[in-house]
Amino acid sequence: MFKTLKGKITFIYSLLVAAMFIIGGISIWNLHSLNQSMEGLMVNNYKSIDMANRMSEAIERQDSAMLMYLSIDKTAGIELFHENGNLFLKWFRIEETNITEAGEKELVDKLGFQHQTYSKLFSELQENKNIKGVNSAIAFYNETIHNNFKIIKTILADIDSLNEKAMFMGRAKLMEKTARTVNALILIFSITIIGGFLLSGYFTDMFLRPVYLLTETIKKLRAGDLNQQAEVVSDDEIGVLASEFNNMTRRLLAFEKSAIGDLMNERNRSVAIVHSISDPLIVLDNNFKIVLINKACENFFDIDEEKSSGRHFLETIRNGELFDIISNAAKNSDKDKSKGTIIQLKSGEKNIFFSIIVTDVKDSESNTIGIVVLFYNITDFKNLEKIKTDFIYVISHEFKTPLTSITMGTSLLSDESVGPLNAKQREIFAALKEDGEKLTGLVNSLLELSRLESGKSVFNISACGVSDIIQNSLKPFYEQARAKKIRLAYHVPEIMPKVDADPDKIVCVINNLVSNALKYTPDEGEILVKSVIENSYAVLSVKDTGKGIDEKYHEKIFERFFRVNEEEGESGGNVGLGLSIAREIIEAHHGKIWCESSKHGSVFYFTIPIHRIELNSIEKNS
Ligand code: ADP
Repeated sequence: MFKTLKGKITFIYSLLVAAMFIIGGISIWNLHSLNQSMEGLMVNNYKSIDMANRMSEAIERQDSAMLMYLSIDKTAGIELFHENGNLFLKWFRIEETNITEAGEKELVDKLGFQHQTYSKLFSELQENKNIKGVNSAIAFYNETIHNNFKIIKTILADIDSLNEKAMFMGRAKLMEKTARTVNALILIFSITIIGGFLLSGYFTDMFLRPVYLLTETIKKLRAGDLNQQAEVVSDDEIGVLASEFNNMTRRLLAFEKSAIGDLMNERNRSVAIVHSISDPLIVLDNNFKIVLINKACENFFDIDEEKSSGRHFLETIRNGELFDIISNAAKNSDKDKSKGTIIQLKSGEKNIFFSIIVTDVKDSESNTIGIVVLFYNITDFKNLEKIKTDFIYVISHEFKTPLTSITMGTSLLSDESVGPLNAKQREIFAALKEDGEKLTGLVNSLLELSRLESGKSVFNISACGVSDIIQNSLKPFYEQARAKKIRLAYHVPEIMPKVDADPDKIVCVINNLVSNALKYTPDEGEILVKSVIENSYAVLSVKDTGKGIDEKYHEKIFERFFRVNEEEGESGGNVGLGLSIAREIIEAHHGKIWCESSKHGSVFYFTIPIHRIELNSIEKNS
């Protein structure tokens, strides 16, 4: 019926305004009618009563005038009589035109007639007095005129009471009418209110139906089903909105099917994959602001993706040690990053071991635009490793005592302390002694490694001089070097700060490196042990002119039991544990150990932190 929503709303308002007009009109008409009734009641009946009272007063004065005429003053009596006669007639005429009640007209006619008679009787009284004297006139007054006077008074009293009665009846009727009017108005109000309520409900529902339909469609759309069209049930503004909405969903569907849509789907899939990874994962931008975190990360760190997105890592996960690991790894080369740093974090009562693996996120032009941090849960591996280390430790420990007595026994026998040996026996015992020493070396190395890995090894860290450590380390090797005509030297700068280290442990590391260098350096070669300062570390190196190590083994040689050439003879317990022990010791000192090599030889480097006080003075001087 109405094309626009505005028209529809105006229509409902118009209906309400019309209803208000009707109710208002009915109320005004009823009030007017009540007013009319009240006026009839007050004015007409009251007027008749008033007139009757005035006529009563006038007739009484006329009566007095007659008595005055008879007794005192003839002329004054006549005058008073006519004067009041005229007044009577004046009130009578008003009453004649104000007849409202049944029977009132008859009474008024009768009154007129009786008053005429009364006036005539006064003329007769005058004649009577003139002719027959005053006594006859008095007798005439008493016998005739006074009766007439009484009749008039009675008629006036009847008119008065008739109107008074009418007035009371009118009041009752008026009250009845008022009650009727009030009831009628209540009824009309109720009908209008209920009707208005039902009508507006009906029209509102009718007008809002397209909105409800549109809302339902939008909800389905939000749930991800883009193939939705809203039903267009009206051609008003909402109808236009629904068809525009349909255009939009068509375009969205087309967009979803387009290349960008594919990209978006791809992105959503990637996000879903990230979320499904069971280990915590964070994507950070170059400023360490959080771009994405997965569910496992939310749960482990008790954070919320929405709240933490765009905030700095430390604002969300307040763990400085963890942040240092991540930021250091981010600075490192890709090769170092892939190694992962192990950290122990608390989850409630449990200790969880994570290997923090940091990977660069690069754009199409290979620019780093952020990093992905994966908290690879290695708690199970750690536990297994611990069982293995404990096992090796126990076994090695159990081997040590019987092995000592075996080697001591073979030593005594081969030294011929308990009797002479023939050549064949000497040969056998020499071989037994060598194997015993090899086994003792292996057991000692295994015990040392297990102690280091399980944290049982005690480190007596103190501020110690690098020069002393190097000198002590080299002492046992000069003889061996001389035998091979190898130049064994060291160089430490004149001003070399002290380092925080357990000197015995560092001596052990240098021993191992120099012993390897001597082993793999041909005669007349050179071995140089050096120390330099780099940032807050002393970097020590052992350089040789040996055969060098292929780059692909630079990492592997630090693994347990790894040897580049398996067929190389094992002597003195050299079973590929020396460098593993060295790495454990250096890492326990918060340092690093690595190898560089060429065909001219190898260099093994390791770092030890400079003693804090010494470091402060270096910083002040520089
Ligand atoms: P080993 O006890 O066999 O010396 P290490 O752990 O000390 O075990 O060394 C592991 C391996 O690394 C050695 O077997 C050797 O192949 C290689 N290597 C170590 N130092 C050198 C070096 N200075 N020159 C060449 N190869 C070396």
